[in-house]
Amino acid sequence: MDERSIELRSNLAAVRTRIEDAALAAGRADRPELIVVTKYFPAADVLRLHRLGVTQIGENKDQEAAGKAAEVAETLHRDATRSGPPPRWHFIGQLQTNKANSVVRYASAVHSVDRIKLANALAKAHTRATAEHDDVADPLDCLIQVDLRQPAQGDGRGGTAPELVDQLAETIAAAQGLRLAGLMAVAPLGEDPGAAFERLAILHQELLAQHPEARMLSAGMSQDLEAAVAHGATHLRIGRDVLGERQYPG
Ligand SMILES: *Cc1c(COP(=O)(O)O)cnc(C)c1O
Repeated sequence: MDERSIELRSNLAAVRTRIEDAALAAGRADRPELIVVTKYFPAADVLRLHRLGVTQIGENKDQEAAGKAAEVAETLHRDATRSGPPPRWHFIGQLQTNKANSVVRYASAVHSVDRIKLANALAKAHTRATAEHDDVADPLDCLIQVDLRQPAQGDGRGGTAPELVDQLAETIAAAQGLRLAGLMAVAPLGEDPGAAFERLAILHQELLAQHPEARMLSAGMSQDLEAAVAHGATHLRIGRDVLGERQYPG
């Protein structure tokens, strides 16, 4: 095992221990799933994580993710020493409608559906991709990203306002090729994440009352995973505490 794999293994173990401790502290019988966010890190790291048993990968930019997913798929296909299914790709970033065609080709879940127009674009893209491949693809898991800022800013960056969740949920649930999978949010800056995730948990309960299949609650990043676990997160999106600090270009 190379040095980087040893580092990733040790970081993963530490994160898994934190998740376990948080779940025990919250008295949860279930365990949230770990999505490792690999943005700004190369396909080689995704392949190392895959060997270490990571099955779910998160990315936030289509251009970067599309290339990486292709490279990972190609290597897994070619390298006979690798076993196990390919990772499941979760798209977690802001998404323009013109990227829908690309995203549906590698992602099995989109956590950042924040408007009806995007839901419609994803449905159309998924239907088209399925027809081209002439097979019966799984529907695309769609999570509604909720803006937890108070008041919601409606600036197209932080998700949909809480009062618009219902309408968007109906659109997704009715769309061919999409499956309404749950809610996603990022804790707002400058607020206790526990308070924000508590509001998110209430919104999730309300959504579940109408759509019992929408079980995913995607919340919690490196800094606030404990608060998210305490408030019922089913999927955690962890980047830097597994991979290290990101080197932003420029
Ligand atoms: C980058 C990112 C994460 C991971 O954040 P870390 O602080 O690196 O754990 C989670 N969610 C979203 C939406 C992200 O863009």
